Amino acid sequence: METPTRSLATEAVHAGREDLAALGLHAAPLDLSTTYPSPDSRGEAARIDEFAATGAPLEGPQVYGRLGNPTVARFEEALARLEGTESAVAFASGMAALSACLLVRGSLGLRHVVAVRPLYGCSDHLLDSGLLGTEVTWTDPAGVADALRPDTGLVLVETPANPTLAETDLRAVAYSCGSVPLLVDNTFATPVLQRPAAHGARLVLHSATKYLGGHGDVMGGVVACDEELAGALRRIRFATGGVLHPLAGYLLL
Ligand SMILES: *Cc1c(COP(=O)(O)O)cnc(C)c1O
Repeated sequence: METPTRSLATEAVHAGREDLAALGLHAAPLDLSTTYPSPDSRGEAARIDEFAATGAPLEGPQVYGRLGNPTVARFEEALARLEGTESAVAFASGMAALSACLLVRGSLGLRHVVAVRPLYGCSDHLLDSGLLGTEVTWTDPAGVADALRPDTGLVLVETPANPTLAETDLRAVAYSCGSVPLLVDNTFATPVLQRPAAHGARLVLHSATKYLGGHGDVMGGVVACDEELAGALRRIRFATGGVLHPLAGYLLL
């Protein structure tokens, strides 16, 4: 958790845009390039290998749209600052974002998920079907601690839930999780009303398609988290390709 130094209202206006004045720009630039000039192809190949291995944010010239995009990076920066996390990683949709979170933990052999119902219908389906090789134990908030196993990779709650608006006490659930990362779907509250990282969530997920987009013209997803998990999420995003389109990133910003 970073200590907020500016009000949320100020962050909402300036985060992800601080360099614009020095660039002589008023509106954020929209970079639609999929690929970029490669003056040093050996060096570039090494940077791609490095990114594939670590997911560390790319320094220097852009390479290819699946590694990252400068317009999308502005949206990620803004969302991280609003949620009070170190980083954020954007995806093509909320379901792509959730899939990446499951894959990050599953790739470590931690395939068991403890989830509190109700969840958004497709999240429920993704877990219940086991399509990504995960196994779910459904429980209520009071049952989280007892449901944990040595191979539990994630605890998942959504509050307020879509569509029932059921609420969960995040601090109590975070305590029950122990060292297992708590993922909170914050789609319905938005960081304006609730910042789960301040209550112990390690992953804060949004379907950006809903309130963050706000105008019904964008599909997107985003996960706000610490840089360690962000690197793992970028690796999965690079390997599986669920990137947010730059125009969607521009509209979300
Ligand atoms: C819509 C929604 C999702 C899925 O997001 P998509 O952008 O449709 O993939 C996940 N969680 C909640 C709470 C949602 O409302």
